Amino acid sequence: DAKHNARGSYRLYEQSLQENAGEQHDLEVGLRRALFLQEFTLFYQAQVRMQDRKIVGFEALIRWEKPGAGIISPVRLIPLAKETGEIHEIGKWVLHTACREATTWPEDIKIAVNVSPVQFENGNLKQIVQAALSASSLAPQRLELEITEGLLIKNVANALEQLKEIQALGVSVAMDDFGTGYSSLNYLSSFPFSKIKIDQSFVHRMQIDKSRTLIKAVITLGSALGIKTLAEGVETEEQFEYLAHNGCMEIQGYLISKPVPAEQIQALIS
Ligand code: C2E
Ligand code: MG
Ligand code: MG
Ligand code: MG
Repeated sequence: DAKHNARGSYRLYEQSLQENAGEQHDLEVGLRRALFLQEFTLFYQAQVRMQDRKIVGFEALIRWEKPGAGIISPVRLIPLAKETGEIHEIGKWVLHTACREATTWPEDIKIAVNVSPVQFENGNLKQIVQAALSASSLAPQRLELEITEGLLIKNVANALEQLKEIQALGVSVAMDDFGTGYSSLNYLSSFPFSKIKIDQSFVHRMQIDKSRTLIKAVITLGSALGIKTLAEGVETEEQFEYLAHNGCMEIQGYLISKPVPAEQIQALIS
């Protein structure tokens, strides 16, 4: 009867909540040991200059290979690491590893590293960046930090101050996922970003809605401010053509290459 069903489905609901909580707990415990167990790796995705399709950089993207659970996406890993505080150690590891691996590439190829908002909270990001540069002997000019606009929301002034000090080292700073936050224009006027990364959602919707007009406007804005524009998530020649035609300077996306393990980089470059 109805009453019985309701109770039965409630029990199922409770059970699935417990399973989720259990899975979440496994992840949290696993995350604490993942660095020590060397379960993280970096994949690299090519950033290409439109004009001649030359690779000018690679973005480092973290992957967590958790035994028994397969590869866990950074979309899941990073928020979890923020909650547990593990993000500080992981962020340090990413910077050190990316800088070290980049020293084996040709000198005209840069390395882009994602930095998460919480990494600004201890006030020592500059020291961490400096340590990664000196441990690897990578030229600061070859390192770019990617910052999402969401970052700057908490204590903007302080984050911008730290970014300026990092920039003074010779490191460049790109605004990631441009157009998905809500204060982009504000940040653009108060901080000297060297690159705007147009979020892939605009590129994917290019044929569907007004996104193509927005993309064009952002490219124009960038060039008026003297800021390079890079479009993310480019998958088709058609998207490439439109972006090239409208003066976008760089692209990144499956059309050129998916993110690959470090061993495959030499093959991509040559
Ligand atoms: P993001 O920095 O915007 O990176 C771009 C994401 O788009 C990557 O996902 C990449 O694999 C994916 N992508 C690239 N080209 C295409 C394409 O043509 N089509 C489609 N559909 N997708 C494409 P991924 O590797 O899953 O990373 C997701 C996000 O996780 C990144 O977004 C970044 O915000 C964050 N993340 C990754 N690694 C790190 C890290 O080391 N530290 C921090 N703080 N965040 C990271
Ligand atoms: Mg990025
Ligand atoms: Mg992005
Ligand atoms: Mg993104």
